[in-house]
Amino acid sequence: MKTPVIDGHCDVLLKLYNNPAIDFHDPKEGRLDVTYSRLRGSHVKLQFFAIYLPERITEARFDHYLEYIDIFHRQVERQGKLRLVRTRLDLEEVMGGQEIGGLLTLEGADALNASPLYTRILYHLGVRLIGPTWNYGNWAADGILEPRRGGFSRKGKSFIKDCGDLGILLDASHLSVASFWDLAASSPRPFVATHSNAKALCGHPRNLDDRQLEELIRRDGRIGVTFVPYFVESGKPASIAGLVRHIDHICSLGGVDRVVLGSDFDGISEWIPGLEHAGQFNRLEEELRKHYTEAQVTGFLSRNWYTFLHSHLPPF
Ligand SMILES: [Zn+2]
Repeated sequence: MKTPVIDGHCDVLLKLYNNPAIDFHDPKEGRLDVTYSRLRGSHVKLQFFAIYLPERITEARFDHYLEYIDIFHRQVERQGKLRLVRTRLDLEEVMGGQEIGGLLTLEGADALNASPLYTRILYHLGVRLIGPTWNYGNWAADGILEPRRGGFSRKGKSFIKDCGDLGILLDASHLSVASFWDLAASSPRPFVATHSNAKALCGHPRNLDDRQLEELIRRDGRIGVTFVPYFVESGKPASIAGLVRHIDHICSLGGVDRVVLGSDFDGISEWIPGLEHAGQFNRLEEELRKHYTEAQVTGFLSRNWYTFLHSHLPPF
């Protein structure tokens, strides 16, 4: 099977930050879910790479983000093999060529500290998608596990506008429910949830309820189903068939052209059996082919992300 794949979330950069000895380009590297050779073997054409600071860093600084971007260029990007995707043209070139694309994203805008300059610098460095929070609250907004359950602050709302003006896409995956709806009300652009499943099937707080899913669908956003076992099933073992039921559910709400993938590989310590690393996207494809047409499967695996990014990345 040669269906191209686009994966909207992984935490490889966190593992490389934590352990400089890990080698993304070593085919035998056993400490990563996502390696260059696995991406290649699975026909992954574009991988999102999250800048996510470890929880032990209690005072996030902008130069931490710069360290991650440096790691991407030194340890992940490799001439002729993997390159940064910043523009629509880059996207077209990687989809049609031999190289794999890497899209830089930020998960948790804590160290931007409401600075439009820092936001612009990240844009200049190629960051194209930002989740304003991780699970807790910061200057911009509250995340889903923040006990006060607030939404966006005044500064957070101007950040939404800055991102929209620059062309940085916004990610609702970790936002609190109030923040999700603030984003929906404040952002003129479509937004996405890169790694969340359907709460109707699994009640984890990181999953999205039907009203949220319908809003993302109506706004032509994207929903990245994620391979985190406890976001797939509660109280019983997760399976690839169970993951496909989340796709079925989003499709039943009208989202067949909005479903994308956001594996969360290298951000998880439990895996769905058979879907344990980036070399196994074909297992998901096999299961999807039992239920969906060729065009629909291609949509879920890559085309739905492609159409979205093609519309929203800067032309050059
Ligand atoms: Zn996450």
